Amino acid sequence: MQRRLPIEEPAQIFLRAFMKLMPRATVPEFKVRFRPYASLRSSICFENATRRISASLSDLLEEAPPDVVGALAMVLLAKLYGRRIPPAANANYNRWVNLPETQQRMLGNKRKRGHKRMLPPRGRVYSLDALFDRLNAEYFGAALPKPTLGWSLRASTTRLGHYDVAHDAIVISRVFDRPHVPSLALEYVLYHEMLHIKHPVQVRNGGRRCAHTPEFQAEERRFPNIDEAKRLLLRL
Ligand SMILES: [Zn+2]
Repeated sequence: MQRRLPIEEPAQIFLRAFMKLMPRATVPEFKVRFRPYASLRSSICFENATRRISASLSDLLEEAPPDVVGALAMVLLAKLYGRRIPPAANANYNRWVNLPETQQRMLGNKRKRGHKRMLPPRGRVYSLDALFDRLNAEYFGAALPKPTLGWSLRASTTRLGHYDVAHDAIVISRVFDRPHVPSLALEYVLYHEMLHIKHPVQVRNGGRRCAHTPEFQAEERRFPNIDEAKRLLLRL
């Protein structure tokens, strides 16, 4: 990847953001680094002993316009000092995050750097492959492209399943792969994740990401015995 030198040093951008946020406070020293994270994350902290503030930003930000880096700086500093996050800065940063180019590059990085860890789809009790094919035929006219399927490493009861766009993978919690768990509960969770393939995340005004769109929800309600399935999930 070609590396472009920023017009303004990132530390200077943070300095300006600091002065805007807290005009009367003593200005600290900043150290800002870009890291090859697998996702678009960033962190900020006071360095031990020194009063220096150290920020680590995803290297995707290296090619972002300075005002976006400035907006993120405001957000991070507000969090660090326990202040209200300036809404304009938040919106500015989120707008950039949700740009198709940013999302594309983020997915690319995730694919390259993050590896998806999961167990094979054939479980002890249930086969996700077979179940996917059945649900696909029953509810999607067999038109849904098959993602990578797998069981989660841990038997989580809070994260029952998720669809990972970057890796095109559906991961289902291993809690469902047990003899006493009715297949209806598992079918409903898998059906929900399959809907995420069919209905991609939508970006709303103000940069809010909406995964469970009205269309998504309407189609989810078409699942037979949905109330019974939800009851079963509560009992897990
Ligand atoms: Zn969902």
